Amino acid sequence: MCHKYLASGLIVLLMVGCGTSRPPTGDSPTALRQQADSLARAADSLKAEAERWKTEAQLRNPLLDATLWTQTAVEYDGVTRSAYQLAEEMLTRALADSSWSADPEQADRPPSQYRDKPPAVVLDVDETVLDNSPYQARLIRQDASYDSESWAAWTRERTADPVPGARAFTQRADSMGVQVIYLTNRDASLEDATRDNLEQLGFPVRDAPDAVLTQGERSGWEPKAPRRAWVADRYRTLLLMGDNLGDFVEPADTSLTARRQMADRYDRFWGTRWIVLPNPQYGSWEGALFDYDYSLSPLDQLRQKRSRLETKQDRD
Ligand SMILES: [Mg+2]
Repeated sequence: MCHKYLASGLIVLLMVGCGTSRPPTGDSPTALRQQADSLARAADSLKAEAERWKTEAQLRNPLLDATLWTQTAVEYDGVTRSAYQLAEEMLTRALADSSWSADPEQADRPPSQYRDKPPAVVLDVDETVLDNSPYQARLIRQDASYDSESWAAWTRERTADPVPGARAFTQRADSMGVQVIYLTNRDASLEDATRDNLEQLGFPVRDAPDAVLTQGERSGWEPKAPRRAWVADRYRTLLLMGDNLGDFVEPADTSLTARRQMADRYDRFWGTRWIVLPNPQYGSWEGALFDYDYSLSPLDQLRQKRSRLETKQDRD
């Protein structure tokens, strides 16, 4: 591909240097006009080449496949429905076992401290119960990157669709007398829009006393852990559900190695007390690939990511 562009550039330079036809000698008006025409043609050619490069770069947007998979692959729906089907099975098991807790700190305490609390399930919102892939599609179409302003504007539109399987699961849990709690890193200023979106879709939102725990809603509620502790003070936490390590344990924004160690430490929780949803579009997993250094240019972020690839020989 590079050679093709170099060859094109060379042709353009030759055109500029030599002209496309034999120029008249001297500085006659005719000669000057022909040189001007030649330069204009060269400029048009370079402009067209630049447009082709720009189009190609836009088509190679790294979000394209992940967003299309989420939006069009029946396999995505299959995975999320499977996750919620598993969650329903585990919910029944958790209700029957009063020593069961999905909250690691609560689970470490004697069951006598939590077995009589009312049951709750804790779900993340984005890419767990609400599908924001239309926002990602918008970013790709606009050749833009995530920023808090465009994100806030999207959430205020209140038009996210449900993740397949999520609504039926939350309604089932609600009908079984299980408190459904949405614990999200959406900013507190977006809580009303989030509640409206959930309620319009038919998700149960029952405040007893608070079903939607947003980031910064209360002092110290920036991480998710204090909010999980708030839930564990009031309820027996039956399940945690999310698409990001931080929906289960923190800090999630740490090295790949530390993330692996944390995941391994809770090996017995995955697929039983912790149910994970797929998110190939974004998450702590992605930032970890370039050490969360968002000051890097998009190109340097891609270079860092590519350097993380492992062939079999790299692993051996
Ligand atoms: Mg999420």
